[in-house]
Amino acid sequence: MTPTERRIRDEIVLGGPMGVEHYMALCLNHYYASRDPLGAAGDFTTAPEISQMFGELIGLWMAECWHMAGSPASAAWVELGPGRGTLTMDALRAAKRVPAFIDALDVHLVETSPVLREKQREMLQSFGKAPVWHDSVVSLPEDRPLFVVANEFFDALPIQQYVADGGQWRRRCVGLDEEGEALCFGLFPSEDIVLPLPPQGGAVLEIPAQGADLMRQLARRLVKQGGVVLAIDYGYGGPAYGDSLQALRHHKFVSALDNPGEADLTAHVGFQYLADAAHQEGMAVHGLVSQGAFLQRLGLDIRAETLMRAAPGEAENISLARARLVGTGPGEMGELFKVMALSCPYMPELPGLPPCPAHRLNR
Ligand code: SAH
Repeated sequence: MTPTERRIRDEIVLGGPMGVEHYMALCLNHYYASRDPLGAAGDFTTAPEISQMFGELIGLWMAECWHMAGSPASAAWVELGPGRGTLTMDALRAAKRVPAFIDALDVHLVETSPVLREKQREMLQSFGKAPVWHDSVVSLPEDRPLFVVANEFFDALPIQQYVADGGQWRRRCVGLDEEGEALCFGLFPSEDIVLPLPPQGGAVLEIPAQGADLMRQLARRLVKQGGVVLAIDYGYGGPAYGDSLQALRHHKFVSALDNPGEADLTAHVGFQYLADAAHQEGMAVHGLVSQGAFLQRLGLDIRAETLMRAAPGEAENISLARARLVGTGPGEMGELFKVMALSCPYMPELPGLPPCPAHRLNR
């Protein structure tokens, strides 16, 4: 039995079944704190690990946003959940083409995992600006605009699940089966949700309460300080029903209740909840667009050609990486992943993303 499972069982025996969000939080805290989950030897691979082009294009996109924000002389580059630090490293290297942007920046990483903080430190060592780490967005600088990127971050935050059952919403929880032996899912009465019921029984509603809270906190800052947030993740605009909680171990799907704390638990991101939270604080919403369309608008194909010309021996790998980032086939990210941005209200347009006037995401 994993240490996390021991703890979960103890909590259930003492306090009864726990909500899916608390279960996810206990599993994910242990999971990220104890390993580097990325890459072939880990559990999953992300876009910045597939190709340097991903981070490079985002770096140039941010430089353009900084320019549109009036080229502030002091600004913070912020990444939420930077993994190995690859995206930030590729982005800042590419953004050296805009020296005034790089000169204005200091680097802030919001990361809870000590293992990954160490990887990020190693990755960014050669950049020349020592990053500042934060446990949460609360301690980010308060005196300058924030240019925030979050790739596959919001999908790693716990969600609440509700199930339409017998004419009411019930909360999905994790408890012990009748023999008290195995972990199992169950439904429990819930009065904390006032949303209309869907026509079909059994429908699952997922609420990214923690993600929305974090977005609200960021938005309160950005409305005062200026800046943008770029969020890329697999998810949907909504409204949508469905159980998207999934567990990945060694690149294969496993049950979310097997080996708690040892598998990557994720849920599709309900972007509209994040957009609503930001909009309520006064931010402008942009998107959604598919990752494929976004990267192509930013010039992915030109960048791929340049890299291929510089390293003809790598042409096939570059072409495969490009296809994985923008393709729409199985295992490709172009359509599955979505891009949303938020800006302080005086930046009504951002490059590569349609503005979203009614704050209802257009997907
Ligand atoms: N953005 C990276 C890594 C994605 S994995 C990439 O694209 O490769 C998710 C990242 O979020 C990890 O770095 C993990 O440690 C971090 N993370 C997960 N939950 C977090 C939380 N609550 N606060 C801060 N970081 C968190």
